[in-house]
Amino acid sequence: MTANLFINGKWTVGNGNRRGRLIDPATGADIGEVAFAEKVDLDAALAAAEAGFKVWSKVSAYDRAKILHKAADLSRERAGIIAEAMTREQGKPLAEARMEAGGAGDHIDWYAEEARRSYGRVIPARTPNTQQMVLLEPVGPVAAFSPWNFPIGQIVRKIAGALAAGCSIIAKAPEETPTCIIELVKCFEEAGVPAGVVNLVFGVPAEISEHLIASPIIRKVSFTGSVPVGKHLGALSAKHLKRTTMELGGHAPFIVCDDANVAAASALGVGLKFRNAGQVCASPTRFLIQDSVYDAFLDAFVTGAKNLKVGNGAADGVQMGPVAHARRLDAMEDFVRDAVEQGATLETGGKRLGNEGFFFEPTVLSNVPLSARIMNDEPFGPIALVNRFSDLDAAISEANRLPYGLAAFAFSKSTDRTDRLMRGIETGMMSINHFGLAAPETPFGGVKDSGHGSEGGSEGIQAYLTTKFVSQLNA
Ligand code: NAD
Repeated sequence: MTANLFINGKWTVGNGNRRGRLIDPATGADIGEVAFAEKVDLDAALAAAEAGFKVWSKVSAYDRAKILHKAADLSRERAGIIAEAMTREQGKPLAEARMEAGGAGDHIDWYAEEARRSYGRVIPARTPNTQQMVLLEPVGPVAAFSPWNFPIGQIVRKIAGALAAGCSIIAKAPEETPTCIIELVKCFEEAGVPAGVVNLVFGVPAEISEHLIASPIIRKVSFTGSVPVGKHLGALSAKHLKRTTMELGGHAPFIVCDDANVAAASALGVGLKFRNAGQVCASPTRFLIQDSVYDAFLDAFVTGAKNLKVGNGAADGVQMGPVAHARRLDAMEDFVRDAVEQGATLETGGKRLGNEGFFFEPTVLSNVPLSARIMNDEPFGPIALVNRFSDLDAAISEANRLPYGLAAFAFSKSTDRTDRLMRGIETGMMSINHFGLAAPETPFGGVKDSGHGSEGGSEGIQAYLTTKFVSQLNA
């Protein structure tokens, strides 16, 4: 099986011979290959996106919305196929994959409706018989780069947002998980999106980003991935003065105050930390627990982590699958070794599980010194760090110590405390006493090194629109 490129409305292996291998992370087995785009393929995608933009930007918002709703319906009909492909190539439990695939339609529907509500405005003029208008227009062809951790959840927001605004797009999708994305793109194709409006490429990421971002055809760059790659692509984009949306890594604090429901916070913490084997940009990582409830929280959290059923995501009842590739296993082992050497206590886990596939034990470290590498770098894997705090100011200052600012979590029954936490923590998103992030209608994005701009919410479509001011004196 070869996963193909989609250029100008045609599925193709492209003009080169280079291929990437597809690996099932639960078994390590070779399960197929993915075609790599060459420069000539990228040039074809650029020409297609340029021509596609001319067609699609003239389609009314009303008609764009109809086509997007159809694509949403198709994605829902095919959610089962999409989910199975996702689990096979990415490893997450089938139940998680089904939720992600089933949710794609909600994102597309939301953007379809936002397309119809992208109002400009009329500004009262200083002189009579004068109209002053702000028109919203699509920014132009988009280059989008999305990662493997939520193969569908990440790319659907970029494609649906761009298309809703009237833009065309070249999506460079993750080489590790192409098949489910191909199934999603087919939904847009079969819903009637004209040729050239959506293009899908795979290949060597640096070659593709350098070529696309430098092209004068591309007017907007959207990237989801690590902070170092985001900074690199941000610099490339700045060189060519391209607008960017950057959704980068995080190192979320999870603050539990002594008046919180500790059992509920701990159960939610286990669910959120080990979801998708911790490969979630908004995953809680630094668990900061107030002194008097620290022991109770740690005890419940460690028990929860130990009880998780780890295994092949396709098997019944599995709660945590493998990490997505071998390089994440090495990264996890290094993080644990360094933290323990510096004095952290390994409460549970800490090593690779079995010899087949890329499984890592759900891991909890406590009393982790600030100097440990994992207290500073995003683990992006199934490792939780549990430390204590005494007063709220200390928790806020620890939350803000790192350059990240994507998500934060807090638990307290006191609105005075939650108010202080909400206002004091530097973050793009905050969830208090529950999990409430990432719905289509709410903005998703970070501050500081976690990036800028939002996907989702009404902000999500603004990212693909420009303003044109027109002043007209009636003739
Ligand atoms: P990585 O930094 O090599 O790659 C991260 C993503 O960026 C991948 O999808 C990759 O294909 C892409 N990429 C890498 N170099 C690129 C380039 N020059 N141009 C365009 N795209 C490029 O890391 P990895 O091992 O694949 O993933 C682990 C790290 O990535 C984690 O530390 C985590 O911070 C980050 N990550 C973040 C998210 C997120 O949702 N924010 C998602 C996936 C990975």
